[in-house]
Amino acid sequence: MTTTHCPYCALQCAMRLEPGPDGALAARPADFPTNRGGLCRKGWTSAEVLRTPDRLTTPLLRKDRTAEFTEVDWDTALDHVADRLAGLRAEHGPDSVAVFGSGGLTNEKSYLLGKFARVALGTSQIDYNGRFCMSSAAAGSMRAFGLDRGMPFPLTDVGEADVVLLAGANPAETMPPMMGHLSAPTLIVVDPRRSATAQQALAQGGMHLAPRPGTDLALALGLLHAVRAEGLADTDYIDARTTGFEATWAHAAAWWPEQTEHVTGVPATQIRAAARLLAEASGAYILTGRGTEQHAKGTDTVSAWINLALALGLPGTRGSGYGCITGQGNGQGGREHGQKADQLPGYRKIDDPAARAHVAGVWGVDPDTLPGPGRSAFELLDALGTETGPRAMLLFGSNPAVSAPDAGRVRDRIAALDLLVTADFVLSETAAMADVVLPVAQWAEETGTMTNLEGRVLRRRAAAAPPSGVRTDLEVLHGLATRLGQPAHRFPTEPDTVLAELRAASARGAADYSGVTPERLESGEALHWPVREGAEPTPRLFLDGFAHADGRARFTPVAHRPPAEATDAEFPLIATTGRLMGHYQSGAQTRRVAELAEAEPAVYVEVHPDTAARYGLAEHAWARVTSPRGSTLARVRLRGDARLDTVFLPFHYAGQQAANNLTNPALDPTSRMPEFKVSAVRLEPAAHH
Ligand code: SF4
Repeated sequence: MTTTHCPYCALQCAMRLEPGPDGALAARPADFPTNRGGLCRKGWTSAEVLRTPDRLTTPLLRKDRTAEFTEVDWDTALDHVADRLAGLRAEHGPDSVAVFGSGGLTNEKSYLLGKFARVALGTSQIDYNGRFCMSSAAAGSMRAFGLDRGMPFPLTDVGEADVVLLAGANPAETMPPMMGHLSAPTLIVVDPRRSATAQQALAQGGMHLAPRPGTDLALALGLLHAVRAEGLADTDYIDARTTGFEATWAHAAAWWPEQTEHVTGVPATQIRAAARLLAEASGAYILTGRGTEQHAKGTDTVSAWINLALALGLPGTRGSGYGCITGQGNGQGGREHGQKADQLPGYRKIDDPAARAHVAGVWGVDPDTLPGPGRSAFELLDALGTETGPRAMLLFGSNPAVSAPDAGRVRDRIAALDLLVTADFVLSETAAMADVVLPVAQWAEETGTMTNLEGRVLRRRAAAAPPSGVRTDLEVLHGLATRLGQPAHRFPTEPDTVLAELRAASARGAADYSGVTPERLESGEALHWPVREGAEPTPRLFLDGFAHADGRARFTPVAHRPPAEATDAEFPLIATTGRLMGHYQSGAQTRRVAELAEAEPAVYVEVHPDTAARYGLAEHAWARVTSPRGSTLARVRLRGDARLDTVFLPFHYAGQQAANNLTNPALDPTSRMPEFKVSAVRLEPAAHH
């Protein structure tokens, strides 16, 4: 029996992996502060992914994309990849090779992947799928607090508050054990849909505010207006602990609740009531999720929610706060250790000379040889195979053919590459497009650390050996790096050796892991970062001051603007996307679990009955949903509480059923987050599919 953590989301529920009645490993809940002995359906069935029948155990190679894959041995595969990479670099320069990582990789893999890109390949062209997940919240927190840790407090604190406002988050569906922390507070849920979380809020006597998609920034401005106009702002806190309130108020002053109602559709009475609920609570939290962050104005929208939290005196106050609900399993750690285009380990900026010198010292290289910042995730994918873009890509733990915005365009770009190499455990939709596929271990077959949504570093433990023929990602990086001329010791394969180096590289950085040792992890100590060597961890940040030099939090003046794409006669409806309880991200894992696949076998489009009738659609009929970029075939699911102007699609399906065939890659100017949440579409009946 092995105690470990779930392979999926950032709640990182603890579980025991032990033989079931048939002798195969089965997952059972274990006690841990985030899940308190609970698991969702995905967690309960997670061990089934370990024995998926289409598991890859031999490297696959093909000479060109029209050919079938051939099974080859590891030396042949790695020699081939290293030769091709060396050739491309020699002919076109180091930036001709791109690396794409994942918020699902362990801290050790995230760290070594960033080092591999900068040192072994010398490329600036590295980013990861977390750019599509957390980047707006990270940028908003950096602006306001000078530091980004999704929740700067333990999740258990939230359950002790009187009121919790959830903006664009649906944990009742995406991370159900979290709802155990939300049963006592009064909930205010901000979501265009009457989501499962919104229903729970109403059942508990709370509120559901349902803005038009893409207007949450205006709603936050309206709430800030109501707080100030009704004398509910915490003026002592604003004076003592913040800067910039008056400039921010200048942007909010026009947002009377009635004006806000006009733009958002949320009744002014609800706006005033919500403001009063938050202000009169003795403890309150504002938490944001992807619904508020995945917009071309996502960073400003996060800033608007943080501005509201600051006006109420919540951040850095014990029993209150602002936080973001991280999505991917290692969404937090994944952005701290150097696989992001603009960052080095320890959450250091890659263009900071001191940061470069420190990290280069740990790596034993000349800081001048380290490349500068590269392209963000979508910009990187969109440049593949172009005249000035990368000609090869190494892909770890991600499936952008399904999960990237404007996925059809991204698939075309991937197809234009000279060389695509994927490390995966199955032939995902993106791996199926590759030239070389390297079969790698899964979560329960190797050890490593993850950092959950509350900035807590935890230990994932191996419960089984990988199948014969399978290697770990660390071994793949070692094999490629040495073939590219790197000394073997520079790319270790033992996770704890990599962790020791990561600790040194992160020391004295914003995300300081220097005190995260295997011994402390094994003891079960709650290691919320920063964890400096020899020091206590930091479960609650900002109680004594924020991370800006003056110790104050910053209000950020932000203005509402409409979504990047407007509806019109050709595309009269708004499409928004989200997750289902039974599936995770691109579905590459969960679509392989029989119970989950049978429960939700196909994409659906959720439509109001009147809207469906207008387009000649009935329950369960197949519909074609079309945006200016592409189309998706989906079964109609009628919802009487849906908005008349909006349809919803889950994004876990592939090919013609991929919701991201529709989504808009318009990018946030700061975070480079695409506008996943608002696309203009039309609906029409489709032939039986
Ligand atoms: Fe917990 Fe998330 Fe895993 Fe579900 S998917 S069991 S909520 S960690």
